Amino acid sequence: MSPRAAASVTAVIAAAGSGERLGAGGPKAFVPLAGRPLVEWSIAAMRAAPSVRSIVVACPPGHVHDLDGRELDVLEGGATRAQSVANALAAVGTELVAIHDAARPLVTPELIEGVVATLLADPEADGAIAATPVTDTIKRAARGLVMDSGAYRAPNQSFEVEETVDRGQLWAAQTPQVFRVDALRRVLEADPSQLEGATDEAVMVEAAGGRVLIHPASAENLKVTTPLDLRMAELLLANRDPDEQRATE
Ligand code: C5P
Repeated sequence: MSPRAAASVTAVIAAAGSGERLGAGGPKAFVPLAGRPLVEWSIAAMRAAPSVRSIVVACPPGHVHDLDGRELDVLEGGATRAQSVANALAAVGTELVAIHDAARPLVTPELIEGVVATLLADPEADGAIAATPVTDTIKRAARGLVMDSGAYRAPNQSFEVEETVDRGQLWAAQTPQVFRVDALRRVLEADPSQLEGATDEAVMVEAAGGRVLIHPASAENLKVTTPLDLRMAELLLANRDPDEQRATE
């Protein structure tokens, strides 16, 4: 049996963010994007991925019924992204889980299958994540900036470079992130306090000594955080090959 045929994956879509930094006046997952709510692009890509058996969506409180009538499990998310994913994990009954941020609407069925295949090709690995090589020159300063309503808060202090980081080994982590469910559950149960600061699931598996593989992905699988990202996503989706677009409907 090919690794692909053996895969049985539940997709968990984290869609419970408030969308404050986008400044759209409501949750980001339901902001209109190229003719459909943002979260619907990820749902369509997951549906078109052959190894995905079922889909669980974590929605913001008050929006759980916005996806009524669909073949989906919908539940309420938590206070943080990691908590939303942990809530959804309770509803997963397959061997593998593909965790994906609704904020990445340009995900494709091919990318989902690629990450699944990367994990299945290595029986010793606990997870595999989509990631793209870092192309900017990266500087470390003593502090970063805080983003608010789609803009960085104006700094009243200067920032000084402390270090230029060698980007040769750096990857920007994306989603989907695919894990063996047992391994991820063990890590979360061992130390639930990790859910506080984790910005993805891989970091928790890594911290527990687990093996996480990288599946190289395109920068096109961008994350919608600011109004500029939303415009870029709109342009990229408008330019998608209509056949490719139909395949995810
Ligand atoms: O806030 P950020 O853009 O990093 O969120 C990434 C993803 O996590 C988004 O798709 C968002 O909807 C989701 N999220 C969530 N529950 C939260 C916060 C964010 O599902 N409490």
